Amino acid sequence: MAQSPSTETITLRKEAGATPHRVKADICVVGAGIAGISAALQAAKLGRKVVIVDSQPALGGQAVNSIIATFCGLFSNGTHGYQFTYGIADDLLSFLEAQDKAVFYRNGPRTTVVYYDEVALGRWVESSVLEAGITPLLGAMISDTRMENGRIVAVDFLTRYGPVTVEADGYVDASGDAALVWQAGLPCREPANHRVFGTQMVVLENIDEAGQPSKELISERMKEKGDAYGLLRREGLGFTIPGRGIAAMNMTHVETPLHPVEASAKALEGKEQASRAVDFLRAEFPECFGAARVRSFGLPGIRQTRWIAGSHHLTVDEIRAGTKFDDAIGRTAWPIELHDHGDGHHWIVFDEDHAHYIPLRSLVPAECHNVVAAGRCIDADSAALSSVRVMGPCIAMGMAAAHALDLAGSGSVHQIDMDKMRARVADNVEKQHYRWSTDDLARTASVY
Ligand SMILES: Cc1cc2nc3c(=O)[nH]c(=O)nc-3n(C[C@H](O)[C@H](O)[C@H](O)COP(=O)(O)OP(=O)(O)OC[C@H]3O[C@@H](n4cnc5c(N)ncnc54)[C@H](O)[C@@H]3O)c2cc1C
Repeated sequence: MAQSPSTETITLRKEAGATPHRVKADICVVGAGIAGISAALQAAKLGRKVVIVDSQPALGGQAVNSIIATFCGLFSNGTHGYQFTYGIADDLLSFLEAQDKAVFYRNGPRTTVVYYDEVALGRWVESSVLEAGITPLLGAMISDTRMENGRIVAVDFLTRYGPVTVEADGYVDASGDAALVWQAGLPCREPANHRVFGTQMVVLENIDEAGQPSKELISERMKEKGDAYGLLRREGLGFTIPGRGIAAMNMTHVETPLHPVEASAKALEGKEQASRAVDFLRAEFPECFGAARVRSFGLPGIRQTRWIAGSHHLTVDEIRAGTKFDDAIGRTAWPIELHDHGDGHHWIVFDEDHAHYIPLRSLVPAECHNVVAAGRCIDADSAALSSVRVMGPCIAMGMAAAHALDLAGSGSVHQIDMDKMRARVADNVEKQHYRWSTDDLARTASVY
């Protein structure tokens, strides 16, 4: 006869004055987007004990959870670009390539991008973090920081399961909004008199690829008929992976304020905008989208909000000139892509032989010895940031943040041995490897 299940329970209440859970690490990475993941994996490769924290209950940041769908800025311009960023980027590309048809390449007239399946990317992130022995702390939001002698010595987080304090020698601010640097009371920057819009991505299924309209035709129709559908943005992009009947649509422009109540309202407005864009596609392009269904909405896509005031403010003139800094840690040739008006954006493409560089000084707050920023919250003017915040250079920045903190140890990131630093990031600044043959690049996905 089967045993009865246990019905015994215990009754307990929260202890008064209970101390927060404590985690100690060499390096604490705040933000588990592509920049933070890159920093955490690089730091673990260097033998450091790493904790990675994110306010979402999931790893991957926008790359996974906002369904960004393509890696940009990883290759030089032209019909056959060489790779700009290696190391962690190679690990990631190799994993995705090994997944049957998980990655597609486009060889456009100027830029080369890499399509990815966000579910496959999410699995790579999760398995890589586990294999590297990194401690994840998810659903954890910064609540306070403690500074002593120009160093952050502890960061408090709130989670649904109670408070946690992380004590580390070094910290990476990969929060996208400079949340750590801001909370520590260090100077930050925001656009003075213009907004940078975000986007609500939407994935459609059951589309008929044979009837696919061009990007130009969609944009033309959006301009002509947008009012009738209540569309704010008047140009759109879609990424289709052939043979799957699925497209990731980037057709909205949504404000992303830092005010907590307004940010929540705008997030809902983004989904309304995306739904109206889907109605537009179904009605205006029935051959392709007539039977399309929304498969998923990403989390709100946030481009640029607040970023650190670093030791160097990277400018658009330096980007245009391709200034090669003595402390360069990464590079890209991605266009200036500034979404600074509701119905469109600035798009300034560079020549085939162009590269622009990111200096380490733009990653380090001047007034702090043990914090390095990475990703979309480094110090740059709005136009410069719009080019270097794409995911290729974000990977390079994460790697550099880990190297800088590793070299600093319990000292200052402002006084590391720069010859050693340059040697460690040399591939991401100098190497020119052609990952794919022209034949490989003929296997294209389509952008419209
Ligand atoms: C709609 C859209 C389309 C884009 N298209 C492309 C594209 O096609 N290709 C490309 O390469 N790039 C694209 N970009 C840019 C690129 O996606 C981002 O700039 C890049 O992903 C930023 O990575 P990140 O790691 O810096 O930040 P994020 O991915 O934003 O990660 C930051 C993480 O920090 C966490 N966090 C924030 N605040 C706190 C806090 N207080 N406490 C704890 N955790 C916190 C967040 O939850 C988040 O997970 C696009 C961006 C948008 C918005």
